[in-house]
Amino acid sequence: MNAKTIVLGAGPAGLAFSYEYGGHSLILEKENRAGGLSKSVKIFDGVFDLGGHSFHTPHPEIASLVQTIMGDNWHQQKRDAQVWIEGSLIPYPFQHHYPKLNNQHINDDCEISSPGNTTKAAQSANFEEWIINKFGTGISNHFMLPYNRKLWAHPLTDICIDWVDQRIATSMDAKNQSKKQRKPLQSNSKVGYPLHGGFGQIFEELAKHCEHIQFEQEVNQIDIRNQTLTTTTRDRWEWETIVSTIPITQLLKCINDCPSSILELTNNLKQVSLKILLVLARLHNTTVPQRIYIADPKIPPHKVAFNHTSSPLLLERDNHAIMCEISYSESKPPATDEDLTEQSICWLIDAGIINSLTDIIQTQIIDLPHGYPINTHKKTDSIQTIKAFLRTHNIYSIGRFGAWDYANSDECMRQGLELARKLKQ
Ligand SMILES: Cc1cc2nc3c(=O)[nH]c(=O)nc-3n(C[C@H](O)[C@H](O)[C@H](O)COP(=O)(O)OP(=O)(O)OC[C@H]3O[C@@H](n4cnc5c(N)ncnc54)[C@H](O)[C@@H]3O)c2cc1C
Repeated sequence: MNAKTIVLGAGPAGLAFSYEYGGHSLILEKENRAGGLSKSVKIFDGVFDLGGHSFHTPHPEIASLVQTIMGDNWHQQKRDAQVWIEGSLIPYPFQHHYPKLNNQHINDDCEISSPGNTTKAAQSANFEEWIINKFGTGISNHFMLPYNRKLWAHPLTDICIDWVDQRIATSMDAKNQSKKQRKPLQSNSKVGYPLHGGFGQIFEELAKHCEHIQFEQEVNQIDIRNQTLTTTTRDRWEWETIVSTIPITQLLKCINDCPSSILELTNNLKQVSLKILLVLARLHNTTVPQRIYIADPKIPPHKVAFNHTSSPLLLERDNHAIMCEISYSESKPPATDEDLTEQSICWLIDAGIINSLTDIIQTQIIDLPHGYPINTHKKTDSIQTIKAFLRTHNIYSIGRFGAWDYANSDECMRQGLELARKLKQ
């Protein structure tokens, strides 16, 4: 079998590439459906995403593409995120709303102890230093440091700071950024979501516009000399160009005779893995926020998302989808699935979100070995060298783990469109 251009993976990046490139590309996807990390999962009447997902983009072209494929199946609303701290909920982000806790000790610490300094922050050597310089010790110690240690599951000193302006809400964001740069979400940002079907519906729709997709085709060997690849079903394909959206670490392992100097660079690529706990439950009070951020290390999830609040049609359902994101890594191994489930549900009951165990219909844990790529200090140089090697063999690697880029679905789509246009020339 042969196809001039073979795309590995039917997530947002691969689908957008194929949509723009047209019928001369073939997508090979290991699963039996499109969407990748952006897919949705159904359990009875519950619709779950893999962690909290909502759509927002600084790229007008991507906004208009999503609008075109989704038509009326779209709902836009203000984001409602909150922070759980000292047994209370306050609006997100903590650094703007801690006075609402009415806790004199926290208030004094955050107001008085060494206030942050933006200029000093920009010169920080690592993420931990940046947090302290940017927010001061009070805000850092009460929320920013424990929350980020919990989420990233790696020493914050191992993480560089070139991504923070796009992701972490500070009062300077809106003024300092270009229109095309992603802005951190604030408590009043507007986000979109399909009325029907969950976040994954966006990519189910996009897949309908891609002519050639073969599902259940997991690529496991790539021969760069003979330009062939094989899948676990033993199908063999000839190719001239490969566009890969699978984790670049896995891509390199598939390549026969990949130089050891290139393989060694993958030691510089670290990621956060996630256990996503899905809880289908009856909620007696459905006025929960869209998501809650939790810094307390004794509570397993760092983020809990209430998917039914994303669309009014989901909100009408009898049962509701709650997703708990629990991060882990080699240095922060996870507890057993049973313990994570029990401890997370205890918190949902303690926080008054679920009344009792009898309100829980079903639980399930999904393991995501690749959740968040980490911007370690050597990441950018390593990715550049790996990509340069791949390009000499007509292989392009894009997307969240293809480029090891802390990118949302919209940015992955943008990368797909951009590469398709370049290769069409
Ligand atoms: C917890 C969490 C929350 C998020 N929240 C948001 C949000 O609110 N908004 C937002 O826009 N984005 C969000 N994202 C990001 C979004 O999910 C990803 O950026 C996006 O799905 C990445 O697209 P991609 O195409 O690069 O890769 P993926 O979605 O990872 O797709 C890669 C595809 O490759 C396939 N594949 C892997 N190996 C092989 C192989 N060997 N052969 C063939 N196929 C293979 C996979 O099955 C998958 O379908 C979130 C992500 C996470 C983890």
